[in-house]
Amino acid sequence: MLPEEVKDNNLTGALDTPSSSVPGQGRVRIAGLSVVFGKGDAQTVALAPTDLNLEPGTFTALIGPSGCGKSTLLNAVAGFTPPTEGSVQVDGRLVSVPHPSVGVIFQNFALFPWFTARGNVEFALKRFRLSKQERRDRAMAALAEVGLSDHAMKYPGQLSGGMKQRVAIARTLSADPDVLLMDEPFGALDAQTRLRMHELLTGIWMKRRKTVLFVTHDVDEALRLADVIYVMSPGPGRIIEKVPVSLERPRPVDRMGDAFLTLRSQLLGLLRHED
Ligand code: ADP
Repeated sequence: MLPEEVKDNNLTGALDTPSSSVPGQGRVRIAGLSVVFGKGDAQTVALAPTDLNLEPGTFTALIGPSGCGKSTLLNAVAGFTPPTEGSVQVDGRLVSVPHPSVGVIFQNFALFPWFTARGNVEFALKRFRLSKQERRDRAMAALAEVGLSDHAMKYPGQLSGGMKQRVAIARTLSADPDVLLMDEPFGALDAQTRLRMHELLTGIWMKRRKTVLFVTHDVDEALRLADVIYVMSPGPGRIIEKVPVSLERPRPVDRMGDAFLTLRSQLLGLLRHED
């Protein structure tokens, strides 16, 4: 059952203009959320009833072994997967379908190969009531933010993996969502590129203070990026531990001190029990 007060205030169709994010927005309330796939003997409890709150402007990572429900949780927040029970609210409005106030970034970039970098960002802005010039300006500003001004007219096939993911980030940022969901966004990138992406994302997050929910199975990645890490466990998928990370930012890889190493051992210990 849905709470009565959120029924009339559903996050449904598209907005007229990109959401203009305001400090203090982007509060996510996940209450008794469970997701069950299939029926009878073929039933999988992908996510057991879960409560989770994301405060505005915080960076939260979900880690855990394959199949522990990380993507299922993220997809429910995105409005892609309907809850079997429970609810997700963003700023008091119920999430039932994808919505511009919640942006999603996937591992596989999901770019159109027949559009340039700029064209990909502009295309995503077509759902808003903007003039062609406004779309172009917004797209170029977003590409500048990810350091791709000089590559705006290149096609995805002419860009490296890291650059493609920058385009995908620009595309999502151009709509100025309050909440950013990232599902192993750097999983397909080489180690060096991944480190550069961590720096880029940390810089964007420090400047824009979006609420971020970031799925990874890489402990170091979670520790470099997040304020708080939730460790998940499979069978059924659930959160088993909350680990706050109070390391100062930025967190360059060559300056990870004792506090980092202690947290890393703690997290690896928790994950080892899940093997
Ligand atoms: P993770 O992201 O942690 O790897 P998932 O959320 O993808 O885990 O999956 C959690 C569980 O739900 C797994 O057992 C997976 O096989 C199952 N699952 C995920 N999506 C579906 C689906 N569409 N249909 C049936 N089972 C699914």
